[in-house]
Amino acid sequence: MGNAFVCESVFENQPSQGVAVYCSDGRFADHFDEFVTQSLGLTCCDRIVIPGGPAYLADHPGVEADGASLLEQIKFMVEAHNLNRVILIMHEDCGCYSHKLGYPAGPEQQQRQADDLAMAVHVVRDVCPNVSIECYIALIDGDQVQFQGGQV
Ligand SMILES: [Zn+2]
Repeated sequence: MGNAFVCESVFENQPSQGVAVYCSDGRFADHFDEFVTQSLGLTCCDRIVIPGGPAYLADHPGVEADGASLLEQIKFMVEAHNLNRVILIMHEDCGCYSHKLGYPAGPEQQQRQADDLAMAVHVVRDVCPNVSIECYIALIDGDQVQFQGGQV
């Protein structure tokens, strides 16, 4: 197996404080992490990372099975870790929306993402009635990323 890589990060066996659902897009990975830990203050946060993030929770034709699977995963995390926070994050210029769901990057995509987040809140609340749900969108601003949104 060769030499093991030993992480600098210390392993802290602390309970998770929430679950964040966001897109796999690697361009935003550091920003999602920074936002969840620094802005939301979740020092330990579970993550469900899939293309499009919460997109499949909305009613897009042909991806109903993905939506059901994602919802089941969220429910599992909430129950298994006794969580009371669910964080749903979309991002600008999402390839899942442009390549799979039929919404090219731009205002139409962002409007659909906002609509999808509103729908996702209801879907999550149905299966996890006791959690607080937060929705955010990550927007590109030059060489920076800013997050807008909050608790709903
Ligand atoms: Zn994406």
